[in-house]
Amino acid sequence: MEPQHKPIRILLIEDESAIADTVVYSLESEGFEANWCTTGEDGLAAFREMRPALVILDIGLPDANGLDLFRQLQEISPVPVIFLTARGTEIDRVVGLEIGADDYIVKPFSPRELTARVRAVLRRADPGMVQEPATSESPFQIEQEAMRIHCHGQPLELSRYEYRLLKLLIESQERVYTRGQLLQLVWENPDHSIERTVDTHIKTLRNKLRAVRDGFDPIKTHRGTGYSLSLRD
Ligand code: CA
Repeated sequence: MEPQHKPIRILLIEDESAIADTVVYSLESEGFEANWCTTGEDGLAAFREMRPALVILDIGLPDANGLDLFRQLQEISPVPVIFLTARGTEIDRVVGLEIGADDYIVKPFSPRELTARVRAVLRRADPGMVQEPATSESPFQIEQEAMRIHCHGQPLELSRYEYRLLKLLIESQERVYTRGQLLQLVWENPDHSIERTVDTHIKTLRNKLRAVRDGFDPIKTHRGTGYSLSLRD
């Protein structure tokens, strides 16, 4: 192991607190230092002060256009940027303008998707800066390309939503999600789904995990709140 580095600083400029909370939480749980600003003006000031290694920038800010802000940041000091965009015209602008953003991610996105992009962009900018999180202790292995999850070495037979649900829970262990949040983060048409759908999928997931190893039940129910995945006992 290399000696402990200072945490990598990331600046998030995003006006929607629900999104920002998730992003900050997932970055910090992977060892990054995350700073959050809600406006372009605050973002610029924070950028000058903290000189982050990477900026995550919402395109639609209340006081600024994310694309203009991107150019202003680059004038102060070149920095890798990942844009957060809504579907539709905002993406077209990011892609079409080819302004040199390092990556973009479309809302809604999973925390793991974002942190994976952050690592990839940082690695491109400076190979060696980022270390992969230790996974050796986990009974789970996720194969992203194959959309498959192994549990204690055995491949699980999962439906699409079971896969997405379990992947999210594995990747943000100990975090308690409400049924509503799980619907938003996992389901493609959350507005047309009901919260009971989440319960049904959790139930089948639990059965599949127990089938691999008797008594293995890492998905916790939080009464009145929702679910989390915990490997601590
Ligand atoms: Ca916004």
